[in-house]
Amino acid sequence: MSDQVENVIIIGSGPAGLTAGLYTARAELNPLLLTGNEIGGQVALTNEIENYPGFPEGIAGPELVNRMQQQAERFGCRIEYDYVTKVDFKQHPFRIETANGKTYLAKAVIVATGATPRKLNVPGEKEFTGRGVSYCATCDGFFFRGKELVVVGGGDSALEEGLFLTRFATKVRIVHRRDQLRASQILQRRAFANDKIEFIWNSVVTSINGDDAVRSVTLKNVKTGEESELKTDGVFIYVGYVPNSELFVGQLELDEMGYIVTDKRMHTSVPGVFAAGEIQDRFFRQVATSVGQGCAAAMEVEKFIAELEDRGYEEYKEQVVASSQAG
Ligand code: NAP
Repeated sequence: MSDQVENVIIIGSGPAGLTAGLYTARAELNPLLLTGNEIGGQVALTNEIENYPGFPEGIAGPELVNRMQQQAERFGCRIEYDYVTKVDFKQHPFRIETANGKTYLAKAVIVATGATPRKLNVPGEKEFTGRGVSYCATCDGFFFRGKELVVVGGGDSALEEGLFLTRFATKVRIVHRRDQLRASQILQRRAFANDKIEFIWNSVVTSINGDDAVRSVTLKNVKTGEESELKTDGVFIYVGYVPNSELFVGQLELDEMGYIVTDKRMHTSVPGVFAAGEIQDRFFRQVATSVGQGCAAAMEVEKFIAELEDRGYEEYKEQVVASSQAG
């Protein structure tokens, strides 16, 4: 372990993390950003982003990530392709261990680990993941040219990705557990107007079946209890997200759904640890809001470090340790 104490370590490389990297770099804090498994988080898996201001024609998710990364690096944010395996926020400086076997110390941390797609947890889902079951139309849609697909869910993701899949598939059947969609009106209009999309209402997938690849799903009508089998070549699942907060259990206050609790200024239950993006926001979940939260967290880090230097390190250290142990 190096004895060097970083000013700020940012965990996660989605829009919140990369924006925090940009702002803390411009504040001359020489930030270190640890990417997680892949750079960009969910945005990197999104085909087209049409609602991020400044891009009137829309922008591909990977391209937006690339631009955010370049901008953060231009001002000196250091980006390491590494995955955090353990954190200790009960001591100060905070301690972070990674999959590459490194241990870092930091005066402040911004957690921006995001969320991952929720699983259906039905038989066949795990077995056929990568062989017909997918959570990423951008990554896998291409493999289903000329095929028939099932999309599960009734939110914006299910409709947006379902619409995208009509570029490849001959038929996209959206299976939703109610008879009303959660998705926004504009996406509903587009989906209803698309000849390749068909809705199967009040139904859930109870199993995914096949041999070397997916061949069918078993559906259950939740109103009548009736079961049926629907032939399909693939299943794309969009039933919401779960926060990536396992690392922080026992370290930071989490809500009942596992999201990190923050105040309006992105402070977590431990002074000096901030959180931004979907790890602490289950309401908005937009690139635009995550960017704003990453910016806010960075600005608070700047204040925190200035205060730390003003007040003296030892006094602060005691306060951090006392409060993290209380939490
Ligand atoms: P979401 O809004 O939480 O919708 C999840 C959908 O999955 C809901 O329709 C839900 O049904 C259904 N569902 C949940 N658990 C299920 C289960 N076990 N079995 C079957 N169905 C289940 O998630 P999302 O669509 O991923 O959207 C997340 C956020 O990102 C939202 O705020 C959304 O607006 C935003 N987003 C925006 C855009 C855009 O603006 N273009 C694109 C994508 C996402 P119920 O409706 O019955 O609860």
